[in-house]
Amino acid sequence: MAWAMAVVCASIQGVRTRLSGTAEKLSASDPRTDVAATHAVTNQATPYEDVDLWRANAALRDALAWHHPGYDRGRIQALGRSAGSAALQQQARLANLHRPVLRTHDRFGRRVDQVEFHPGYHALMEHACHARLHGAPWREGPGGHLERAAAFMLATELEPSVLCPVSMSYAVAPSLRANPALEAAFGPGLAAAAYDPRFAPPAGKTGLTMGMGMTEKQGGSDVRANTTRAEPEGEDAWGRRFRLTGHKWFFSAPMCDAFLVLAQAPGGLSCFFLPRWQPDGAVNPVAIQRLKDKLGNHANASAEVEFDGTTAWLVGEEGRGVPQILAMGALTRLDCALGTAGLMRAALALALHHTAQRQAFGRPVGEHPLMRNVLADMALETEAATALALRLAAAVDATEHGCATRAGADVAHETVMRRLLTPVAKFWICKRGSLLAQEAMECLGGNGYVEEQGEGVMARIYREMPLNSIWEGAGNIMALDLLRALRGHDVAAAVAHECAAARGSHPAFDRALACVLHAVERGPEEAQARRLARDVALLLQAAVMRSHAPAAVFDSFCASRLDDAADVFGLLDAGLPMQAIVERASPAQGGTAS
Ligand SMILES: Cc1cc2nc3c(=O)[nH]c(=O)nc-3n(C[C@H](O)[C@H](O)[C@H](O)COP(=O)(O)OP(=O)(O)OC[C@H]3O[C@@H](n4cnc5c(N)ncnc54)[C@H](O)[C@@H]3O)c2cc1C
Repeated sequence: MAWAMAVVCASIQGVRTRLSGTAEKLSASDPRTDVAATHAVTNQATPYEDVDLWRANAALRDALAWHHPGYDRGRIQALGRSAGSAALQQQARLANLHRPVLRTHDRFGRRVDQVEFHPGYHALMEHACHARLHGAPWREGPGGHLERAAAFMLATELEPSVLCPVSMSYAVAPSLRANPALEAAFGPGLAAAAYDPRFAPPAGKTGLTMGMGMTEKQGGSDVRANTTRAEPEGEDAWGRRFRLTGHKWFFSAPMCDAFLVLAQAPGGLSCFFLPRWQPDGAVNPVAIQRLKDKLGNHANASAEVEFDGTTAWLVGEEGRGVPQILAMGALTRLDCALGTAGLMRAALALALHHTAQRQAFGRPVGEHPLMRNVLADMALETEAATALALRLAAAVDATEHGCATRAGADVAHETVMRRLLTPVAKFWICKRGSLLAQEAMECLGGNGYVEEQGEGVMARIYREMPLNSIWEGAGNIMALDLLRALRGHDVAAAVAHECAAARGSHPAFDRALACVLHAVERGPEEAQARRLARDVALLLQAAVMRSHAPAAVFDSFCASRLDDAADVFGLLDAGLPMQAIVERASPAQGGTAS
């Protein structure tokens, strides 16, 4: 349309020139007749690439330094640069544009059940495994889970969908411990800083990945409805062996080397280890029926599969499959919180980058007072998400190692915080992520809404964002899990302890603390569980930011979130230090302002 208008304008100009009869000669290169000149691109932002994502993210740097002062700076700095590189961003674009393709049969009609990925997918997987985002922290000392958590957030800014198999390969470790033979066989491959994409027996591979299969057609949240049957078949070096018959309605990353799945054994719903190759070198039958046609998460394959005489080994106690596999689910929930915080940062950074360059009404869009309010509000939300997700990672790290990286932290307290924060952080951060993505998209105006062969990163973020809220337990399931956490632990004492340092710092904080303690002690009815999850999340976001965020951020968060429940972004009160908040979050500042 613009091109057509340009041609029309040029020809009108030509007619006018002839009619006026002027002696003026217009050469071919004169800007008034040069059609190319009408295509000059002005006032567009530069691509947000070749950015040092670690240096740009002051909120994450401050949070990690507070929880783990001795973190490996060289490693995370290197990841910040690689994850922000134009070269890997190009791979992310291609991996999302060229979606995985399912091959069910070969040309002779034999089943092959393999998924082919674009080389960009493999490049991103290799990057993630080399960055030790999968099983590596289980072989590292105190602080390993925290460093991995910060790195996971940075890698999410690059591309979130490959992090599905990476996350499952990380999270499986505690469940796998229940079968020491399998742990010994697969643990080293899951922790190796290597990615081996071959569909081949695991013994000959340099690196391994794992997935999980719980959800069936007739029930996902309610896994008790699972109908896949497990018939005992014997026993071998990997323990009790079963034959599985049934299906899984969602089975992501089906090219992983093995999966934890739930199936009904004679003794009840149980957890099984299902490898794609059997120990004798035969392929284990997993019929991939089709790949899901998803809203986003395009680089990753999510399959529907059927088992027919598929071999699997018992993990943990027969009949105790749900708690067994939920040891894995608790850690993928951590990754949902981390990943969403990372995606929020990506959306915010794009919005800040664009609005700093795009001019409207005589100055950069970001300098208009109303836009500054929107940006500052999104920055507060993103910093709060980052802080809460990393707080949960700190609890995981301390409880796994039996000691904390931060002086004075108490492991008994961390145990309660881990139990409490897993559903709270997963619920609240994922809920806020989608709202923030919509607002960040709007900051880019029309450009935010276009896909442009995968160059529209904001559109990709927007499509991806709701996923973390759904999988690994949707919002209501998280809120109900919070009620379960209240029953088993002295949550009121833990919340009071967690908030002790921030008490008295802001009147809204003190009021919110009193309300939460009252609600926790009373125990809300089921229909109010989301309200409590939100209130606990906001309170603890404020408490943790009091520890490591600048006072301007803490005060503004309390003022804008704890007294009033804000509904849209950009409602910060006039007196709040919006400019300072925006400068702290700005990638151009390298996050130096405070
Ligand atoms: C892209 C993608 C990939 C996935 N990959 C995998 C995978 O690899 N492995 C796997 O096992 N699963 C996977 N899942 C499935 C996912 O974990 C489930 O979709 C999710 O757990 C919800 O289950 P469901 O779809 O059966 O919904 P349902 O269980 O039917 O829930 C529907 C709604 O009802 C709500 N609800 C349920 N029970 C209650 C209650 N008691 N009170 C109030 N509300 C309730 C839920 O919160 C939800 O909002 C994937 C999903 C997606 C979208």
